[in-house]
Amino acid sequence: MDARRTAILSSAAREVRAVDFPLQPDGKRLYPSELFGQNVFGLKQLQKALPKSTYASFMRQLRGKQILDKPTADAVAHAVRIWAMDRGATHFTHWFQPQTDSTAEKHDSFIDLKSSYTSAGEEVNAIDGFSGSQLLQSEPDASSFPSGGMRTTFEARGYTIWDTRSPMFIKATLNNTMVLYIPSVFISYNGAALDEKTVLLRSSEALSKASCELLDLLDPAPAHEPPFVSRVNTTLGTEQEFFLIDRGMYSLRPDLKICGRALLGNLPPKHQQLEDHYFGHMPQHVLSFMSEMELELLKLGVPLKTRHNEVAPAQFEVAPIFEEVMVAVDHNLLTMNTIQRVADRHGLRALLHEKPFKGINGSGKHCNWSLATDRGENLLNPSSKPETNYRFLLFLVAVLNAVHEHGGLLRAGIASASNDHRLGANEAPPGIISAFLGEQLTEVLNAIEEGRNIRSFSMPEIQTIKLHGTRLDVKVASLPNIDRDLTDRNRTSPFAFTGNKFEFRAVGSKQSPSFPMTLLNSAVADSIQKVCADLVEQKGDKPFLSDADKLTVIRKYIKLSKPIRFEGDNYSQAWADEAKCRGLPNIKDAPTAFEMLKKDVHIEMLTRHVFTKDELESRYHILMEKYLKDVLIEANTVLSMLKQQVVPAALEHRASLASSLASLVAAEIDATPEKAALEEVGGHLIALQKKIIELELKLKSGVEDAEQARELLTLMEAMREDADQLENVVNDRLWPFPKFTEILL
Ligand code: ADP
Ligand code: MG
Repeated sequence: MDARRTAILSSAAREVRAVDFPLQPDGKRLYPSELFGQNVFGLKQLQKALPKSTYASFMRQLRGKQILDKPTADAVAHAVRIWAMDRGATHFTHWFQPQTDSTAEKHDSFIDLKSSYTSAGEEVNAIDGFSGSQLLQSEPDASSFPSGGMRTTFEARGYTIWDTRSPMFIKATLNNTMVLYIPSVFISYNGAALDEKTVLLRSSEALSKASCELLDLLDPAPAHEPPFVSRVNTTLGTEQEFFLIDRGMYSLRPDLKICGRALLGNLPPKHQQLEDHYFGHMPQHVLSFMSEMELELLKLGVPLKTRHNEVAPAQFEVAPIFEEVMVAVDHNLLTMNTIQRVADRHGLRALLHEKPFKGINGSGKHCNWSLATDRGENLLNPSSKPETNYRFLLFLVAVLNAVHEHGGLLRAGIASASNDHRLGANEAPPGIISAFLGEQLTEVLNAIEEGRNIRSFSMPEIQTIKLHGTRLDVKVASLPNIDRDLTDRNRTSPFAFTGNKFEFRAVGSKQSPSFPMTLLNSAVADSIQKVCADLVEQKGDKPFLSDADKLTVIRKYIKLSKPIRFEGDNYSQAWADEAKCRGLPNIKDAPTAFEMLKKDVHIEMLTRHVFTKDELESRYHILMEKYLKDVLIEANTVLSMLKQQVVPAALEHRASLASSLASLVAAEIDATPEKAALEEVGGHLIALQKKIIELELKLKSGVEDAEQARELLTLMEAMREDADQLENVVNDRLWPFPKFTEILL
């Protein structure tokens, strides 16, 4: 039997893998809350392990009040080593985030050799050790990570430095090898950010500072006393979408293996038309995979909360409870990694690509984003009367203004060769960044802008239903009206206000959320500073801001940011036309988006807060280079699939048709069907052959810029049409790859 059929049959005969749930000594299962964070060395563990004064000193460092000194670092290192080794860890690693959308690690053993000299000569003993300086930093060879020209190979030195705000953890593999992970930043010899995390941390600092300034203006602390709020955290909750397919079939498709998406293939007759997959019943093997994945992530302190089927067949989503942005990003990267690893164990393959299958929905990573004070108060919570909640309104208009001024930049933050196949396609937000507020907030902003009263909203009649003897309210009593009415019903908006947070939906499923969040934080920080400057001016010599002062500033930013507010259908041509009139950029592909990183208005903003000019320039080069490489890899992959598999299958099919035609003609039997079939397959083959030659020529002469890459992509699309026609006519027994019907249904 050929490989394809074997894969189909073994996928059908798959046994569901049993998941071992950790048990208590009495045999009962542990509760999820008991498992949560089991493998994390957090503040609680640290406090337990350290002398009181050492812990206090560490906390002062964490709050930015002192530098981490050597004795404290040594004590933390010792404590974490004992904790990790007691749980079976043999190695440690500084875990960092190079600009590759994934993470990097190099393991070092805790073992060391100690020599002592006695009269009998040298005696060497093995010991276990881990010093404060080993904890704080290590020096990986940086030359093999993208740096966009920031570091020439002969200055290969880079440093990884422990990010003390993200907790350390141990990660187990199947054979029980345990490694201590130290979340780290990655910088060059002269301190430039080579990674995703350093800039994210800087942007969160900038945003915190600006937000505190605004809060202090609105609610000033008494003279000589510290401000009421000393830190504002960015909060992030990532909804992660992905496909799960059979590993055997995956391994027979070079395109999925090399590029993460099918470069060829036709839709199955039934896919998502009936809308029966979304929130549908989860297949047993998927549920088993989900449970095991969640188990691992819970132990790692990732608060996964939701799991469900997504719109497309074989598509799923998981989402955690939101956390502080740097931890949420770490956790999203861990989630993507764990999804892959656990899927393998279940004979599955997870596809995190934004558009693995043409014609059905792609995958995104909705980034739910908000701001919270150090007391946990959500600054984007409108409360029940947003029209008089000036603090909320000021933060809201600052965000809208940021999105208006830097929409192009936000588009750059989500651009990649893979996300290009999703953005602007009919299921994903388009290349125009706009913001959706919902009817009620729109009315609030319009009324303030026009200086009129707010139209009153009639809330829908509260329904009650009778269940047995009890009468139940269908409304959710605890929700203030505003939340209920604001619940987003516009799935087409790239940046939607959803109750008490913004949801940046255009982010790609496979990318790290770090860069888009860095850009958003920076733009909002900048915008809040402008709002503050205006408030200060309004206040003049008065001791406090009046409501009228605040409204003047709010009104100004409502007007400024109005063009990006859009409540309609973002997919419609009417919106594209309207956006053009409003002067909003409609950025159709990644290379165009990357050019935004070179625009003065964005450079000035980013260099005020987060990046150096060099760092920003290097990002542009890295992103552009990666884009070109991605396109080239796809072109080479499709070329080899066509030449080595599709064309040979079609030729074999043609040969068999030709030989039966010849014998039928010789026997003077009507061979019209054979002739027609031959002509059909021949037509597609000839068309494809021409394009193959064209592609080979293009690849030979080199692909060095965006224009050439676009030509390549157009040609690949045209080739796909021919190849997909061949898939329709070539004898199914000869077809070399699993078809979408087999993979998805
Ligand atoms: P949906 O968008 O499907 O209605 P939810 O309301 O459950 O979903 O929220 C989706 C994500 O938004 C979750 O990860 C949730 O934790 C996160 N989220 C909720 N509130 C906030 C917030 N204040 N800041 C950041 N993320 C939040
Ligand atoms: Mg959502």
